[in-house]
Amino acid sequence: MATILFDQIIFGPIHSRRLGVSLGVNLLPTDGKICSFDCIYCECGLNKDGRTRSRMPRREEVKEALETKLLAMYEEGVKPDVITFAGNGEPTMHPDFGAIIDDTIEVRNRLCPEAKIAVLSNSTMLYKPAVFDALNKIEDNILKLDSVLDRRIQQLNAPNSPSFTFGQLLEQLLLFEGNLIIQTMFLRGECNGESVDNTTEEEINGWLQALQKIKPKKVMIYTIDRETPVSGLRKVGKEDLEAIADRARELGFEVSVSI
Ligand code: SF4
Repeated sequence: MATILFDQIIFGPIHSRRLGVSLGVNLLPTDGKICSFDCIYCECGLNKDGRTRSRMPRREEVKEALETKLLAMYEEGVKPDVITFAGNGEPTMHPDFGAIIDDTIEVRNRLCPEAKIAVLSNSTMLYKPAVFDALNKIEDNILKLDSVLDRRIQQLNAPNSPSFTFGQLLEQLLLFEGNLIIQTMFLRGECNGESVDNTTEEEINGWLQALQKIKPKKVMIYTIDRETPVSGLRKVGKEDLEAIADRARELGFEVSVSI
């Protein structure tokens, strides 16, 4: 499969399906992937194939690269809608994540005050106070919840930590008191000879119940966009995604569907 790795700290701006004109920030090494999940649909590839030899960028390097890029964009008259932390793995695994978010808020306020700051996170580092506090400071705290069933989380997300469970995740998500956006990848197919489908009635019912407890300010649902590292996975069609979104909308949630 053609994996997508970002070869710089700052990438874009790109037009994101979900976020608009997005200037990306990659806090992970540029020659591989580091993640606390090993999702079977990951565009960066599986962890075993993405070993890195380089280090994560330092806090000062991130700030300087962001300032340089935003100044160049200002000269060109281009404004980002959002500065998005994503990249080659899980951004909150950077040891200086909290300080980097503080720097980014300061740079954003100075150079492009209208832009939001977004973090696309897999929710595994929320137990760290510095990560929790940083995510609480930004506008778009976008946290992954692909399933409420532990067996499905194991199959889809393959967390590195055996103690990562839905129950523990739910407790941490509740601590945001609604200051979060939930992102869910829906997909179907087969993996290792077993069925994969997080759109069954059991799954959707549980997911809607979880949303009612978590009370996110927005919900983003999407499906596979590119080739996946595990073959046999399929997109969920627009009609089915819209039907899932409508059920959440009926409960009062703002839901975006990206396909
Ligand atoms: S959380 Fe994101 S980066 Fe990590 S394995 Fe899953 S899709 Fe890839």
